[in-house]
Amino acid sequence: MSIKRPHVLWYGIPLLVLIAVACYSIIGIHLVQSRLTTLSRTVEVLASTTSVLQQSMITNLVNLSGEISQERQNVGTIKQQLGTYQEQVGTVSNTVQTLQKLSKTDPQLLQKYSKVFFLNEHYAPARLTEIPSAYRYSDSKVLKMHADIWPHLESLLSDAAKNSIRIYVESAYRSFNEQQALKGVYTTVYGAGSANQFSADQGYSEHQLGTTVDLTTTGLSGRLDGFDGTLAYSWLKANAYKYGFVLSYPENNSFYVFEPWHWRYVGVKLATYLFNQNMHFYDMDQRRIDEYLVNFFE
Ligand SMILES: [Zn+2]
Repeated sequence: MSIKRPHVLWYGIPLLVLIAVACYSIIGIHLVQSRLTTLSRTVEVLASTTSVLQQSMITNLVNLSGEISQERQNVGTIKQQLGTYQEQVGTVSNTVQTLQKLSKTDPQLLQKYSKVFFLNEHYAPARLTEIPSAYRYSDSKVLKMHADIWPHLESLLSDAAKNSIRIYVESAYRSFNEQQALKGVYTTVYGAGSANQFSADQGYSEHQLGTTVDLTTTGLSGRLDGFDGTLAYSWLKANAYKYGFVLSYPENNSFYVFEPWHWRYVGVKLATYLFNQNMHFYDMDQRRIDEYLVNFFE
């Protein structure tokens, strides 16, 4: 019996297929390897490019931060310079303000008047205002004073009233002619000698300024004499300086008779200085008084 052998073709075909597959695989692997190589080169190039970019960015950032820091320093320097200029402008502006205030402040307002130095007979305050009747002792008598000084006197009078001390204005601004007429009456009634003692020329000059008032209080029937024995006088001696008022002719002064009712506005700063030094206006040198003119209305 003959054994039938498979035809050689039956072996050949799978072999060929195997060879083909092997070839295909080898070619495929080669291609993949080739692509991988290409990719790897691309990655290397990219990595290198990225590194260059990073380096460049870092350099730029460092430069930029250096420039910013420099700019900050410049801004700081400019700010300092501006500060210096502002200070200089401030100083100049203060000086200008001081000069403006001085040019507007009448030097007569802080002048000492004596038996040989009077105000000009034509002198009148810049602005006068009427003192409200609530603060006048006599309702019928119209009283006026310097308009810029009245608010200071009003504060004084209303603060005294809050302390149950009633102070009234008996006399305020008096023109040259009014004073002349008043002195004429006194001279007729009391004789020239006595009239000169309590109504002489210093006092009249101060009333002509519009900054000076004669004050009275309850219990005196509107009179001035006896005022030194009142609570009102004690209160004024302790507090008037806070409102800028001083007693022109205190007890035992070498210029004039004692006038406890006669109060003159000299500005809060000067009045406070005099109070603290226990000094009187007429004891002070005129040149030193004039230094307070710039603060007169404050
Ligand atoms: Zn007076």
